Amino acid sequence: MHIPSTPVRIAVAGGNYAGLSAMRELYLQLLATNTDYDGTRQAPPNPKVKITLIDRRDGFVHYLGITRGLCQSEYGRKLWVPYSDLPWLQHPSISIKKSIITRIASHHLELADTGEHEEFDYLVVALGQSRTAPIGVAASSMDEYVSDMDKHGKLIGNAQSIVVVGGGAVGTELAADLKTDHPEKEVTLIHSRSLPVPGPFTDEFRLCVTKVLQSLGVKTLFGERVIDESCSANDAFGAEPAKHADILPELFDSVKRNATLTTSSGLRVHGDIVFNCLGATSKASLVDLPSSTGYPVFSPHGIRVNQAMQVDDPKYSHIFAAGDVTDRDLLKLAGAASKGGRLAGTNIAKLINASNGEAAGIISPSREKHGKEVSSPELGWIKLVLGEHHAVIQRGEEVVPTEAAIHMVSPDIKLSKATRKLYIGSYPINGK
Ligand SMILES: Cc1cc2nc3c(=O)[nH]c(=O)nc-3n(C[C@H](O)[C@H](O)[C@H](O)COP(=O)(O)OP(=O)(O)OC[C@H]3O[C@@H](n4cnc5c(N)ncnc54)[C@H](O)[C@@H]3O)c2cc1C
Repeated sequence: MHIPSTPVRIAVAGGNYAGLSAMRELYLQLLATNTDYDGTRQAPPNPKVKITLIDRRDGFVHYLGITRGLCQSEYGRKLWVPYSDLPWLQHPSISIKKSIITRIASHHLELADTGEHEEFDYLVVALGQSRTAPIGVAASSMDEYVSDMDKHGKLIGNAQSIVVVGGGAVGTELAADLKTDHPEKEVTLIHSRSLPVPGPFTDEFRLCVTKVLQSLGVKTLFGERVIDESCSANDAFGAEPAKHADILPELFDSVKRNATLTTSSGLRVHGDIVFNCLGATSKASLVDLPSSTGYPVFSPHGIRVNQAMQVDDPKYSHIFAAGDVTDRDLLKLAGAASKGGRLAGTNIAKLINASNGEAAGIISPSREKHGKEVSSPELGWIKLVLGEHHAVIQRGEEVVPTEAAIHMVSPDIKLSKATRKLYIGSYPINGK
């Protein structure tokens, strides 16, 4: 194991569900340790640690609400929370760097443009996965986000026909949101398989999703692959692909305008606008951690981690990873990302406290309290919110009827729950 310098340098790469959860635990367990800390004011400085959060954005984005946010701008505006609204992140032992990470090496991160190296003794990798904009969110500041949202809102408002390509969870939610909020528009969902939402789900669940979409008036073209497309513009705003779009697909706006798509059976489908919901890209190209075990650190499903969220290679026991960037779950979900982040933060704090004389005893999920919203992908646990009035839930083998399911999902798609955990305008307290 690398011997930490003084102060111990901890880097957290990525500040969304997983990264901010790790930051909160590091704050609570390394900074807010005075017995008189009660969450009413900033914790005192700790000269023994230096924590750096690096993200290309200046705030948290609540992805779960993105498809609804594209259709309802008032709601959409609430999905971005600037880090500056979180007083605890302004702690003197914490610095926030707004920068693109281009490479993760064993003891430093490389940052774009300046070529700066961020050295660390401990690292949490929480970079998620990437999707093209607008689902993936291109903006790096709140002003950009609001302006992009207004532009996409205008495109949607002016379109008569809208096509969504890709019937996974995101594509079905987007099609349902579009048709719910714009019933007068023609909304078509094209999906290559005969039923939507691939993954560990039953056909009963998929049929139920199909029925809801059709009852909303979404035209479902399933079992059809798009084999050709022509369009007047393949970037909504006509701009050149942004610098670093090769490692950050979210910097590329994939909305097409005035497009005609040809499907595998020869159907021609016109869309005044077309949304691409064809899935996510991994962060494999950034991770430069040669394996010492014969198994690559980055498996096809993400960074291989052990139960403690440590990279599963003895050479990198100082590096942890959490959330969508890891190989832990077949279904990548926000609750699991937050839980993994908490565990990574807790375990780094334990290792640091151990080097100060306490016993290490890093913990694995079996010894952690399970959050009730954390899904168990093996059982196919998913809540799909299809517009404001419909939801379809699979709970293990059971599919909850839609009438009951809508009362079991959060009306604001967990926005208030997510923001509560950010401690906006306040300071975290252990156990709350
Ligand atoms: C439309 C949509 C709907 C969803 N609905 C649900 C749902 O209903 N329930 C659910 O549980 N999950 C849902 N998910 C999945 C959920 O959003 C993810 O599981 C979750 O975001 C994972 O959190 P994370 O912290 O691992 O990664 P992310 O939230 O993706 O965060 C990664 C962070 O890393 C930063 N970053 C990435 N690359 C770089 C780089 N090179 N340099 C600097 N910074 C970088 C990003 O800016 C971001 O802040 C949905 C996702 C989408 C897109």
